[in-house]
Amino acid sequence: MKYASVIVDVQAMQTDRAFDYKVPEEWQQLVSPGMRVIVPFGPRKVQGFIVELKNQTDYEKLKSISDLVDLTPCLTTELIELGQWLTEKTLCFKVSAFQAMLPAAMKAKYEKVIRFIGDELEALPFTIRPFFEGKIEVDLKDIEQVASFREIHKEIECGNLEVIYKVKQKTNKKTVKVIKASETFSALSEHLSAIPANAKKQHDIIHYFITNRLNEIPLQLLLSETKASDTTVKALISKGILQEENREIYRDPYENREFEKTNPLPLNEEQQQAIGPIIHAIDKKLHEVFLMYGVTGSGKTEVYLQSIDKVLKEGREAIVLVPEISLTPQMVHRFKGRFGSKVAVLHSGLSTGEKYDEWRKIQRKEVQLVVGARSAIFAPFEKLGMIIIDEEHESSYKQEENPRYHARDVAIYRGKQHNCPVVLGSATPTLESFARSQKGVYKLLTLKERVNKRNMPSVEIVDMREELRNGNRSMFSASLMDKMTDRLNKHEQTVLLLNKRGYSSFVMCRDCGYVNGCPHCDISLTYHLRGQQLKCHYCGYEEPLPNTCPECESEHIRYFGTGTQKVEEELVKILPEARIIRMDVDTTNRKGAHEKLLTKFGQKQADILLGTQMIAKGLDFPDVTLVGVLTADTMLNLPDFRASEKTFQLLTQVSGRAGRHELPGEVVIQTYTPEHYSIQLSSQYDYDSLFRHEMQLRKTHAYPPYYFIALVTVSHPDIMKVVSVTETIVQYLRRNVANDTRILGPVASPIPRIKDRYRYQCMVKYKRDNDLHITLRKILEHFQQEMTTNQLMISVDLNPNTMM
Ligand code: ADP
Ligand code: ZN
Ligand code: ZN
Repeated sequence: MKYASVIVDVQAMQTDRAFDYKVPEEWQQLVSPGMRVIVPFGPRKVQGFIVELKNQTDYEKLKSISDLVDLTPCLTTELIELGQWLTEKTLCFKVSAFQAMLPAAMKAKYEKVIRFIGDELEALPFTIRPFFEGKIEVDLKDIEQVASFREIHKEIECGNLEVIYKVKQKTNKKTVKVIKASETFSALSEHLSAIPANAKKQHDIIHYFITNRLNEIPLQLLLSETKASDTTVKALISKGILQEENREIYRDPYENREFEKTNPLPLNEEQQQAIGPIIHAIDKKLHEVFLMYGVTGSGKTEVYLQSIDKVLKEGREAIVLVPEISLTPQMVHRFKGRFGSKVAVLHSGLSTGEKYDEWRKIQRKEVQLVVGARSAIFAPFEKLGMIIIDEEHESSYKQEENPRYHARDVAIYRGKQHNCPVVLGSATPTLESFARSQKGVYKLLTLKERVNKRNMPSVEIVDMREELRNGNRSMFSASLMDKMTDRLNKHEQTVLLLNKRGYSSFVMCRDCGYVNGCPHCDISLTYHLRGQQLKCHYCGYEEPLPNTCPECESEHIRYFGTGTQKVEEELVKILPEARIIRMDVDTTNRKGAHEKLLTKFGQKQADILLGTQMIAKGLDFPDVTLVGVLTADTMLNLPDFRASEKTFQLLTQVSGRAGRHELPGEVVIQTYTPEHYSIQLSSQYDYDSLFRHEMQLRKTHAYPPYYFIALVTVSHPDIMKVVSVTETIVQYLRRNVANDTRILGPVASPIPRIKDRYRYQCMVKYKRDNDLHITLRKILEHFQQEMTTNQLMISVDLNPNTMM
């Protein structure tokens, strides 16, 4: 084919379409859609994705592709189409959609270089001039240190400088050098006689190949085995007797681990009921969406495993999505134990290189199953037979940056393309999914009982206001204290959850009420015990903990709230003999730390596991018989219509950690609002009532699943600008939406300022509004100019997770 349509990597509205290029003669046999290329674009060179090849074009005077980045396509035809669909669904640029599908290692990195193209160096301002003395090209990064962008830009305008984009490829495939014999062993023997007798090491090497019947061997190994040197090997290579090759090796993050092979368990009655329709859909190649609503420990994972087995036996492939924090070694183990080397694992704990290696295994069809977090939904499989989303209610399935996609939507899209089932599993499905199952859009599969009819742990709700009235000022209620002590005596384990979401430890003056806030964001600073620092969680600003109040100079400045460190300190005081493992962002930020801590807990090297949300999921330890929730209601006060639903989900999940095996479990929930329905209902494991109650509220207040929501957020350093732009948007929307669509705003966002940018928003609630996407896109187009030049930012989130 002579021409290629290319989506260029320039993120702007004007360039968000395919551009045609000539394919040079010598590459016409080589290129195919889904490959990345380098193309001239205006005065510079950029990377792009080939989306189509053709023999005709509507344009004259086309430029040619300058270089090929890939020699095999990195996107399949299906993924190219998926990219177009994502663009429409999430209002992102096409190139962002494509890039979201690739592992980080493959994302284009440009090095911007400034080249001097003027006549005389003296023409340059004195700040910039020294850089070009004796040099033609300088990294933009270096110049930026001393010159403003405007200054540089001026020189570009008048033709003294130009910007050149150099693509830096970051895919460092790991390779080893292997040495191969060029000829048969008998030919090698003949060579022996031709080699001078004094070249003893050369003889040794050839002997080594012959006696060991080697076809090839890694260079390093050959050198250490024969005690020969690199030069000796080189000599044999130059004689043509041996050959050298770079062989790609994978960095398998699990390579050193043995996975014991597990076999399918005989399914119980409920599991059989559930798996039947899934197997049917796999057999008949039907696209259906199943909602597998099964209490924690009901054996959902076993159903996944046996369905996957079916898919793989049919010669097809499967994707399993698991929330990032549940992707524990335990979880990986269950899949690798059943399917061994057929499994690739993709999660953020891997290094960029490791992730890339896992992805390559998928691309080369060396694995048939991928288990991974959100972005694994883009695995470049071509014979998909099933997609599973475990814990489908997890908010991490929504990406909070462009493209703002939800993995569930992508799964269903791909399921349709491949005619295969999609299974959504949860003990606490989202209201949206459960409502769809009630309407028959999704097929409901129910697992009501835990495997072997083990009871759900009993839950006690403790009113912390009551504790205070009884003179207990500690963060542990009397009941929780008793039970923890009891577990210590019985050598059983306890999991303690500190619900940090919507809650932070801040510093406040007891005399005047002053709270230390971030000077750049309208949010209070969080206290970090380590280093006695106050930190902003939005922009990273830090300051030392003050000794006196900056406002009234009082010394009664105290820190409020409860961090995990603080809980740990108290625990040590009241249960000095307890061995505690603390899991939070501070103790798990190093690679592999998360895993180490859990292994330690699993081996019973600790009595109490204390942590934030990250401990609520996926853990399955037989000796955990007590779960304590320190503060159940912190999340309820967030400006988020899903607050009650999320609280219910969290409490149910964490309760599910107790008594999963032989020993019965107990749960203690401490709260200041014991009467709240989501707390009451979670203690009774009553999802059905929660669903009914919450649906009623959503209906009354016009929230999902009755209405869809789109959130438009505008930000700019100047508050007047923000208000006026948001006002313009609201007016434009009012004129162009459907009759029953509601527009709320403009209002200041719940966090009105982040990184010195003011934030306003407006919310669109709609039922059916076919043109809304077009209207929103027009708004973005209208402000495009200002967004590139005037620091204006407008983000549109269709179906937002949070309202912040
Ligand atoms: P879920 O994913 O619903 O939380 P799991 O699949 O983790 O539940 O099952 C809980 C426990 O029960 C696991 O230890 C699992 O090995 C075991 N299990 C699951 N199905 C069966 C079965 N049919 N027979 C015996 N044990 C089972
Ligand atoms: Zn004060
Ligand atoms: Zn800040």
